[in-house]
Amino acid sequence: MFLDQLSILVAIGFSSASLGLTFFMMWAIGRSETHLLVWSIALALIVAGVVFFGAVVENYSSALLFVSFLLLIAGFGLLHAGCARFCSGQTNWASTVVSVSISFILTAAAFALGYSGTGTMIGNVAIGVLLIQTGRHYWLARSESPLLMTANTVFCAVTAASFIACGYALAEQGQFILTSRPANWAEEINSIVAVAGLSGMGALSLTLNQMRIANGHKSDAMKDALTGLLNRRALFDDPLDVAPAGTAVVMMDLDYFKTINDRFGHDSGDRILMAFAELIRANIRINDLAARMGGEEFCIIMPDSTPKSSAAVADRIRSQIEATSIQTASGPVRATVSAGIAVRSVEPETLQSLLNRADAALYEAKASGRNRIEISSFSLAA
Ligand code: GH3
Ligand code: MG
Ligand code: MG
Repeated sequence: MFLDQLSILVAIGFSSASLGLTFFMMWAIGRSETHLLVWSIALALIVAGVVFFGAVVENYSSALLFVSFLLLIAGFGLLHAGCARFCSGQTNWASTVVSVSISFILTAAAFALGYSGTGTMIGNVAIGVLLIQTGRHYWLARSESPLLMTANTVFCAVTAASFIACGYALAEQGQFILTSRPANWAEEINSIVAVAGLSGMGALSLTLNQMRIANGHKSDAMKDALTGLLNRRALFDDPLDVAPAGTAVVMMDLDYFKTINDRFGHDSGDRILMAFAELIRANIRINDLAARMGGEEFCIIMPDSTPKSSAAVADRIRSQIEATSIQTASGPVRATVSAGIAVRSVEPETLQSLLNRADAALYEAKASGRNRIEISSFSLAA
């Protein structure tokens, strides 16, 4: 072999230890992403397992080999648990404990009966199975990032295959009882694949983790913190884009909101804003966009609409908020809303122009007594 096994084990040990330390430090900063802590403990166990395996390479002892497999199985079991949490948001501890316990019991039974070779085969296959389960989690989550998740699945599958091959090579040679460290073609391949697989998976998982954090920040930046609706910035990519025909813009503004705040307090005002946003959400279609434009002003953009259909939605929201009574410390409070609607007809029109027309219609609704809907009569087609 062009590299001695001990050197490769040292490489696996150090790369896993630095990955584990990185995961631990990342967890320590936020303390919210539990999978990072689980991964760091998993890698610590794997490093310990590798150290024991290294001792076996130096000086064969079936007891040390057994301890090495126990540590590796526990480590790969935790790696699987961390991946399940990372990919699906949930850790099924029961399934992890069952998989790890079965692997422990079978491996321990073989070693206890003196069949150190069989125990080594079982230990290797068990690690392979745990890695396949880990790869399955990445595969099921591939829609989040097809390239990176699939690459992680491949790393898991290849590393799993190299462990299973170690079990197979011993079985093929009929080595059910070992008197020296396992040394065959599969062990050589496994050592190299394990360095590449573990560091590859670690680096990709870190990238995925950072990507997820960045996407979270991006989505937070598009959202209004109080209502969870989009904010003004998120509503249009470019307001000067031509709106597709049939686009309806509904501008809504709660009536006499300042008076409500003055009488019932700002907290009650906030609760009305949240209830109103909830009503909007409940009344729009999946392709409609709803945003809080600021203060007590909201906007809905509805594709494929007519003045009649968009007015029906706006009027439903108007009548529902009118009928909603919100309990506050100073008694029940009700609010009403006025709305202005503009729908793009045949001629090209920008979103900004639609927005301006909806605003003007809203102004009319306010001027004509509030708690009502006005449809912009201005039509470029007319
Ligand atoms: P109009 O019927 O003409 O729309 O009258 P209005 O009182 O609703 O309008 P005005 O623009 O005078 O007042 C809007 C109020 O909305 C003033 C401001 O205190 C309140 N407001 C803006 N943002 C928030 C918020 O986040 N929470 C609460 N509770 N109030 C807010
Ligand atoms: Mg208002
Ligand atoms: Mg206003």
